Amino acid sequence: MHFIDQAKIFCRSGAGGPGAVSFRREKFIEYGGPDGGNGGKGGDIVFEAVAGLNTLIDFRYTQHFRAPRGHGGSGSNRTGGGGDDLLIKVPVGTQILSEDKQEVLLDFTEVGQREIFLSGGDGGRGNASYKTSTNRAPRQHGTGWPYQEAWVWLRLKLLADAGLVGLPNAGKSTFINAVTNAQAKVGAYAFTTTRPQLGVVRHHNREFVVADIPGLIEGAAEGAGIGDRFLGHIERCRVLLHLVDATDNDVAESYRIVRDELVAYGAGLTDKQIVVALNKIDTLDDELIAALVGELEEASGAAVIPMSAAAGTGVDWVLDKLLEAVGPEASPVGAEDEGQDELIWSPV
Ligand code: GDP
Ligand code: MG
Repeated sequence: MHFIDQAKIFCRSGAGGPGAVSFRREKFIEYGGPDGGNGGKGGDIVFEAVAGLNTLIDFRYTQHFRAPRGHGGSGSNRTGGGGDDLLIKVPVGTQILSEDKQEVLLDFTEVGQREIFLSGGDGGRGNASYKTSTNRAPRQHGTGWPYQEAWVWLRLKLLADAGLVGLPNAGKSTFINAVTNAQAKVGAYAFTTTRPQLGVVRHHNREFVVADIPGLIEGAAEGAGIGDRFLGHIERCRVLLHLVDATDNDVAESYRIVRDELVAYGAGLTDKQIVVALNKIDTLDDELIAALVGELEEASGAAVIPMSAAAGTGVDWVLDKLLEAVGPEASPVGAEDEGQDELIWSPV
């Protein structure tokens, strides 16, 4: 399954049904009064955040969502039936943006959160409701209120607990593959460097989600490369794991380049808890490792964990730190496996 982080869809609520024009016809009653019922309300377009979805891929195949219109009223003052609401299920973390992406219209942060996005039109009035003392046989009726429609963007910000940052080649993908159940989770996503990857880490019988944010390069916050679009994904992480390649010429400088991007991006990224790890120590001797750890600690002001994602050295230590930072949010193993293949939308 590809991981899709945005999709454009068209939504239209249902128009209201027309009111009826009808007169009572009864034997022996010469002038039956007006009895045209009101039209029914059109269906709403409703979004709901559900658990167990972490992609917008289904919106690639279903891009048009139209709620049915209300039914017309009828005689004997019968109101027309309402059109069913159309419920669109989205993953938690989805935002609904205006077509020009300038405005966040809805923001789904909790499972079960439900919002009416476009209301269906009210039904038109039947002729019975136009009856007055001076007009006892009105032929007016309302045609029903119109639908609303909009093209919108869905954007999914991964609700990962931990975000991986680091220069290209720091070893982020290697790390995520080493620590997550690749077969069950990461393997489910296309392995490309241009899409963020999600993995579920199981550690000490707890689970948390790690997001690998690809392509963070200098200038990413200004939109250089592909980095900026993905920085948005880590906005909501509880902790960042910053990987630095021990074989870089200047590890302090490597650290700072990424750090500067986080500062430039803003949105509180630099207020997050951070775990810094010096990766690829399997290629170096102990003395050099100690020296580089010292340099990196000075640059980052944080304790630095020497690690080798490839050899597995120090990885448990890093996971301990991440788990500690994620805290009680980390769910017990097996808690969120259900519903992975659930249909992404369905009529109510
Ligand atoms: P990313 O760009 O940050 O995702 O980095 P990758 O995970 O793709 O790794 C870049 C390169 O570094 C690959 O050739 C990896 O095999 C290598 N690499 C990653 N981790 C280690 C490590 O711990 N030790 C060594 N020697 N190489 C590593
Ligand atoms: Mg990578």
